[in-house]
Amino acid sequence: MFPNPNRMFQNILNLFFPPVCSGCKAVLLSNENTICTVCRHEIPLTNHHLNPENEAFKKFYGRVPIEYAAAFVYFHKKGIVQELIHNLKYRGHEAIGTLLGKWYAEELKTNSILQTVDAIIPVPLHPKKLRERGYNQVTEFGKALAEELEIPFNTQILYRQVYSKTQSQKNRFGRTEGIDTVFDVHFTLSDQNKHFLLIDDVITTGATLEACTKALLKIPGTKVSIVCMAMADS
Ligand SMILES: [Zn+2]
Repeated sequence: MFPNPNRMFQNILNLFFPPVCSGCKAVLLSNENTICTVCRHEIPLTNHHLNPENEAFKKFYGRVPIEYAAAFVYFHKKGIVQELIHNLKYRGHEAIGTLLGKWYAEELKTNSILQTVDAIIPVPLHPKKLRERGYNQVTEFGKALAEELEIPFNTQILYRQVYSKTQSQKNRFGRTEGIDTVFDVHFTLSDQNKHFLLIDDVITTGATLEACTKALLKIPGTKVSIVCMAMADS
């Protein structure tokens, strides 16, 4: 049997540029993908999916009505998740999003609330940031979840408004515009009465997710759930 030429080429390439772990830069073994086994075991999982009244869900109490919220892992300052998210956002390691999405989908597959979701919607990146970075860091996470959970991925409904400088500084009462006014929705009749799963990278204050949820709730009959890669550990 002849060796697969693509495999041979990849092996030669790996000899000179071995793939390294996105968490600790150790050279990956052939059975490892994106992160090494040591880092994989060090990632602090939240286990939010085991408890619907988890701390991510509680963050939105009294702010916006949501069906469900969960974050996959804890984000500690100087921890491995900070390194992973940094590599994902600023060094083009988009495979981290795929890895986390596929991994989390395994846990979320049996969640009865998420089984009614009609579309997965990412928090939109500012167009200027999108141009600079070239990608939205939550896209691959969302696509992996969408594929595994067999739910459409939708980047059309929710968008970030782009104001000119003079518009963005003050509103008609002379106050600076808040984050609530930054997001809006495009929708048709067929987008009404749907359950949307809003996704983001890290929940910190929850202000962006709250603003996105408020925008989505402008669509009649909408329900919103939230899933994030990570949650800042306070
Ligand atoms: Zn590692």
